[in-house]
Amino acid sequence: MERMTNMKKRVGAVYEVLDPLYTHEKTALTFKTPFQLLVSTILSAQCTDKQVNRVTKDLFKKYKSPRDYVSAPIAELEADIRPTGFYKNKAKSLKGCCQGLLDLYGGKVPASMEELIRLPGVGRKTANCVLGAAFDIPGVVVDTHVKRLSLRLGLTRNEHPDKIEMDLQKLLPQDRWRRFSDLLIYHGRAVCKARKPDHDHCVIAAHCPSNSI
Ligand code: SF4
Repeated sequence: MERMTNMKKRVGAVYEVLDPLYTHEKTALTFKTPFQLLVSTILSAQCTDKQVNRVTKDLFKKYKSPRDYVSAPIAELEADIRPTGFYKNKAKSLKGCCQGLLDLYGGKVPASMEELIRLPGVGRKTANCVLGAAFDIPGVVVDTHVKRLSLRLGLTRNEHPDKIEMDLQKLLPQDRWRRFSDLLIYHGRAVCKARKPDHDHCVIAAHCPSNSI
């Protein structure tokens, strides 16, 4: 296994190359409050941010508080979020999460990982998204792109997102955690795609052990 110091150097180089290339927006999801961001993040599973924003434009006018989601008939909520896909599961998650917010935190979105992951349907990925974009709290977000690129770049040997999160935390200073996740997400969407990574046009190919696979 590559030495930690070398890996840190490589990660630093990857960061420096990618950082100027991609937008500095913390999230492409539209939100005004941490609660709206939490709802949008739940809806963003397997859906583009653009499509989530289209749906939440009307959704946030109709549902303003956790209680609104809890008291809505499930079929109505399902219909309102249907264009984001997997709407039955997402409606259940939203109701469970909102009930948790009411029961545990008086309807307010908490600003810590420990508290957020106590909410039904909220895992570390969702919690890190909310903490980073709504509260400016550093975290490594491990979605499907971050997982794939971390493995291809040889930054982890783990498959489980929670373990990958810990591996990446060790390789970067805290103030780069969030940005590095975003960079991998953007680069994964644009170049290092799941099916056909474009090694020939990849600006970090020199730092990647998978550049010829
Ligand atoms: S060289 Fe290939 S595998 Fe490595 S990051 Fe670039 S596109 Fe992905």
